[in-house]
Amino acid sequence: MNYPHSHARSLREPAAFWAEQAASVAWYRTPTQALVERPDGTHQWFPDGELNSCYLALDHQIEQGRGEQDALIYDSPVTGRKARYSFRQLRDEVARLAGALRDLGVGKGDGVIIYMPMVPEAAMAMLACARIGAVHSVVFGGFAPHELAVRIDDARPKLLLTASCGLEFERVIEYKPLVDKALEQAGHQPEHVLVLQRPQARAAMREGRDLDWQATVADASPADPVPVASGDPLYIMYTSGTTGKPKGIVRENGGHAVALLFAMRHVYGMQPGEIWWGISDVGWVVGHSLIVYGPLMNGCTTVFYEGKPIRTPDAGAYWRVVEEYGVNALFCAPTAMRAIRKEDPQGELLRRYDQRSLKQLFLAGEKLDSSTHQWLEALTGKPVHDHWWQTETGWPVTAPCTGMEDFAARAGSSNRAVPGYDVQVLDDEGKPLGPNQQGAIVIALPLPPGCAQTLWNNHERYLDAYLRTYPGYYHTGDGGYLDDEGFVYIMGRTDDVINVSGHRLSTGEMEDLVARHPAVAECAVIGVHDELKGQVPLGLVVLKDGAGIAADRLQSELVATVREQIGALACFQKVAVVKRLPKTRSGKILRAVLRKIADGEAYSVPPTIDDPAILDEIAEVLRAFKVPAGMSSVAR
Ligand code: AMP
Repeated sequence: MNYPHSHARSLREPAAFWAEQAASVAWYRTPTQALVERPDGTHQWFPDGELNSCYLALDHQIEQGRGEQDALIYDSPVTGRKARYSFRQLRDEVARLAGALRDLGVGKGDGVIIYMPMVPEAAMAMLACARIGAVHSVVFGGFAPHELAVRIDDARPKLLLTASCGLEFERVIEYKPLVDKALEQAGHQPEHVLVLQRPQARAAMREGRDLDWQATVADASPADPVPVASGDPLYIMYTSGTTGKPKGIVRENGGHAVALLFAMRHVYGMQPGEIWWGISDVGWVVGHSLIVYGPLMNGCTTVFYEGKPIRTPDAGAYWRVVEEYGVNALFCAPTAMRAIRKEDPQGELLRRYDQRSLKQLFLAGEKLDSSTHQWLEALTGKPVHDHWWQTETGWPVTAPCTGMEDFAARAGSSNRAVPGYDVQVLDDEGKPLGPNQQGAIVIALPLPPGCAQTLWNNHERYLDAYLRTYPGYYHTGDGGYLDDEGFVYIMGRTDDVINVSGHRLSTGEMEDLVARHPAVAECAVIGVHDELKGQVPLGLVVLKDGAGIAADRLQSELVATVREQIGALACFQKVAVVKRLPKTRSGKILRAVLRKIADGEAYSVPPTIDDPAILDEIAEVLRAFKVPAGMSSVAR
């Protein structure tokens, strides 16, 4: 497959293009039609197709002769446990769990919440739901009871699956008390809670409602996969929107299978039998597309890691896993690599491990700053690719399609649109902008297969959030531009674009410059209110261990760099050194909260925050900087 040709054809003839791709899926009923447009502008892919996503991930692989191949390799430095499951073993475990769910009255279309750590049983739970047509919603194990309760009330699950605990470094986090508290708060109650008892903590059980996982599954007879319609939901994944109520992204079975097979082969260049490592958590979209469904449906072995980039036990952990399992390609967020770089800037730990199996590294989730990019590429000697997507799309929107001929990759860009995506840039009025002009990044409809076409229980909100802003386009919420060769530059959420004296500036661009400084481990640039200029940028910087540079000198060097690279109009004049940056548990820097602290506005502590204490630390540092007061005099 040739990239330029395929991309052009996918936009010219989307139905024909994707009908051809759909032929690689083992449908129960092959769709006779590829694409239908609904009156509200949304689309349905493969409307009369029937399939089963668990069958595709497991049984079909066994039928292809991969029964004895490793399907899932569990590596848990936090517990010291390692385990391998062949496709046959995983299918048998999943079929029995699916039988247990069926015996508990769970059937096609029923909701199931999975609130679990990174144990193989979490993947089994997802696949077991898919096997019987139930709709799973994995809630990230780090969410507090209130957030879990909100999701329970929205998804209205018949069953909740959990484990007695998760582990964060050496700390045991008991999950069951959190579930109990969430259920006290929730209006909706699942009929049962299935609890996986882990050796590190024993959960207290409530008679009648709570069931022991092992005992329940032991008695069950295996369930066969049931055919579901292409448009039937496979899962709901909640993601943050602009209000406190999370958006329940709905993933349909048919389009999802077609898209993931395409992505694994043609974007990530993975062949059946190869070893893939998606480094994330089942609580995020990456955990769905790139830990469970994508690799397995493509006949790859998936590495399932319950650990961290650092301190489990050290910053060589990733490289140890690559060597131990012969990982061929991996996916992770830039923040993980920055954490490794901070502790092992010279790559001494990396060099202890054999990295020959590794062909390429894919990074996404936030902008890959060029400093980290260059460091990683130089150290590993492998191609490092930035690519861009969202929970809503479920698979890459822009990426170097490394599994295609004539693909191109460009450092500094999140690369070109993947076939199926017509990525464009519009101004505030919705008028198309030319190359190198910054605006709102949109995708012309139809969205390709796999992308969410609705929100659970709230189709109107879907239309409002994504389709109504720019009629005919999907609104990504990101700002950026395309260069004259179609490479896409994501500069951050549209609210990260700041306006300084009428000039539109990207804080992402400034971050990139700041991050290149040799003393900087990590940084965020935010726009803070300024009476004269509207907004001015403020840099928050975490220093590398042992950087040994005075704050004054660092500030003047960074100010000079930004002035030199972007210009005096950027008004970048203040740099605060902080110990840490507040992040979500998936590693995104919480810029909106930083902005509020800097502007002296009231803020609520985001439920996804890694460590709320950081916010107080930052507020104190900013006070010493006389931020928010006094910014205007500084900015002049
Ligand atoms: P999520 O749905 O949580 O995966 O977040 C999606 C958002 O993360 C996107 O809308 C972007 O703002 C950001 N994002 C993801 N990948 C990239 C990337 N490669 N470069 C810049 N921003 C990214």
